[in-house]
Amino acid sequence: MKFADAAVVWPDVAEVAAPFYQGMQQHKVMIQRCESCQTYLPPVQVVCDHCGGNNLLWQAVKGGGEVYSFVVYHRSFHPSFDDKLPYTVALIELTEGPRLQALLVGEGVAQCQVGMQVKPAFIKISDEHTLLCFDKAEK
Ligand SMILES: [Zn+2]
Repeated sequence: MKFADAAVVWPDVAEVAAPFYQGMQQHKVMIQRCESCQTYLPPVQVVCDHCGGNNLLWQAVKGGGEVYSFVVYHRSFHPSFDDKLPYTVALIELTEGPRLQALLVGEGVAQCQVGMQVKPAFIKISDEHTLLCFDKAEK
C-alpha cells in the first residue's frame, strides 16, 4: 500500500473505491447495494456476494451498528501511529448488514465490547482527509 505522506496514513484510492472515501470527506457513510437483489455490500465490491449481479449502486446510510469484533493495538505498524498507542480497531456490523473495519474513538475506546452500539464519527486527520471512525452510541 502506498501512503500519501509519512505523517498521514491514507491509501492511494482506486477509482472503484472513490465514492466510499469521498463520502467520508462529506461526513457520509457510503456502502454499495446490489440493484438486482437489494443486498447491501461491504465496500468495495465489483460483484454482488449474494447473487453475482454487477449493477452495484452507492448509497449513503446512517452508519449505525454494533461492534462485531475488535483488537487493541499495542504495537505500531506505521510511524504515524507511534504516538497513538494503544488504539482500537473494530469490525463494525452496520445496521444494514455489511461489516467494515474502523478505528474506535471517544467513549467507544474505553468501553469497547462485542455488541456495543456505535455511531459514525468523522475525524479530520489532515487538511485534506477526514477518516470514518466509530464511537459509542447513546441508547
Ligand atoms: Zn445481488
